[in-house]
Amino acid sequence: MSGAGNAPHAAIVGGGWAGFAAALTLAQAGWRIRLHEAAREPGGRARGMDLETPQGRLRVDNGQHILIGAYTESLRLMRAVGVDPGQALHRQPMALPYADGSGLRFPDWPAPFDALAGIATARGWSMAERLALLARAARWRLTGFRCAPETTVAILCAGLPRRLLDEFIDPLCISALNTPMEQASATVFLRVLRDALFSGRGGSHFLVPRQDLGSLFPIPAAQWLAQRGHCIELGSRITELQPQGPQWMLDGDERFEAVLLACPAAEASRLALAASSHPSLPAREGVALQAWAKQAEALPHRPIATVYAQTADASHALPPGQPWLALRCAPEAPAQFVFDRGQLGGPQGLMAFVISDSAAPRARLQAQVLAQAQEQLGWHGLTALRTVIDKRATFSCLPLLHRPGLSLGHGLWACGDYLQGPYPATIEGAVRSGIQAAQAIAAAHRA
Ligand SMILES: Cc1cc2nc3c(=O)[nH]c(=O)nc-3n(C[C@H](O)[C@H](O)[C@H](O)COP(=O)(O)OP(=O)(O)OC[C@H]3O[C@@H](n4cnc5c(N)ncnc54)[C@H](O)[C@@H]3O)c2cc1C
Repeated sequence: MSGAGNAPHAAIVGGGWAGFAAALTLAQAGWRIRLHEAAREPGGRARGMDLETPQGRLRVDNGQHILIGAYTESLRLMRAVGVDPGQALHRQPMALPYADGSGLRFPDWPAPFDALAGIATARGWSMAERLALLARAARWRLTGFRCAPETTVAILCAGLPRRLLDEFIDPLCISALNTPMEQASATVFLRVLRDALFSGRGGSHFLVPRQDLGSLFPIPAAQWLAQRGHCIELGSRITELQPQGPQWMLDGDERFEAVLLACPAAEASRLALAASSHPSLPAREGVALQAWAKQAEALPHRPIATVYAQTADASHALPPGQPWLALRCAPEAPAQFVFDRGQLGGPQGLMAFVISDSAAPRARLQAQVLAQAQEQLGWHGLTALRTVIDKRATFSCLPLLHRPGLSLGHGLWACGDYLQGPYPATIEGAVRSGIQAAQAIAAAHRA
């Protein structure tokens, strides 16, 4: 199968979760794969990195991530490359607990009874608030979790008590869509809720990595492919695509039946635009490539920051069995969540503070987060180890957003979290896009 001289040959540009999901799917369909990743480590926006600490070098992530049980394709592909999600991920029923004990905690019951019981027993919410959320959830269920495409999450949730918006809707919206509820697409929000709450038992569970993101899938996927004779080139940035009749060449190298752009939107746009003016490309295809590139380039993006910090005192830890807490967020207190890495396979006292849609410069953000931890958690003497900011962490998940499609023309395809699809920019969105592109490539080749 793989390595066979007559097998169709695909090049994949980008070794994030989407690129490796596509590579694996195509390899399983009998294709030969050459994957180019610009960085020296695979994983893209969900990868491991080294963190220097006074105690030595630690392995952490480029940003704290959280998955949910409904990420079925990501979990399936992890298993396919020999990763046991039961070991690699800490699984716990959905919970948005605050330091004062208030907030939501779902019991480990079958869906949707876990959500019903979680809402009915939420601590710190009045009976009227709980009933309001239950009634609204019932209405969403009755309407099939659909709404008019121009609706924002704020409009969808208009009329709900302020506390529910502040303690449930907004934290959920910002962590799932990385877009504030006043601007976020209600269609995508409802889709995430539907899949989390109704995709079966455990769909709403939170899954938090216990090992670095690279070792969850991209690194074992690269090994899996290499062991089967496929070619994985790290530290290899593609600068040019050239059409060669029905085939494509990368940087003047060998020819491929299909090229899949699995790099971020801006880079895919740059490569597509440059290829669009190649003299051997029919004019009609050049125009289509330009239109695709324009759409990809126009996507608005939003940042996410993670502040890694070390506590000064062993008593400064989250309650055992609860490795994350929701934080009360305000302009001067920007972190939405804190994760106790000591409970997640890391060293005692290592904390990861997550600031979704962060806008402040690094130094200010870091100082604000330390002050927030002191005020809300009582942690004095916390030391910031590193603040990682990704300014283009996700696309802005707005209503009526035009996301580009996966086909760019004959033999040229794209995949990634930003392409047309039901999900916001997430690991599962990237993986599903990679699988979908691979299936489309294989089907087009057979046709
Ligand atoms: C800080 C942060 C926190 C996040 N939190 C969550 C979360 O909690 N849950 C969740 O589900 N998602 C989260 N996300 C989003 C998630 O990480 C992304 O949706 C997903 O990783 C995107 O994968 P991808 O393969 O589509 O793109 P990418 O990961 O961007 O992969 C593209 C790859 O292409 C490579 N590349 C670029 N140009 C070239 C070139 N010319 N030649 C070769 N290679 C090239 C890049 O180096 C990169 O490795 C978060 C993202 C960030 C940054």
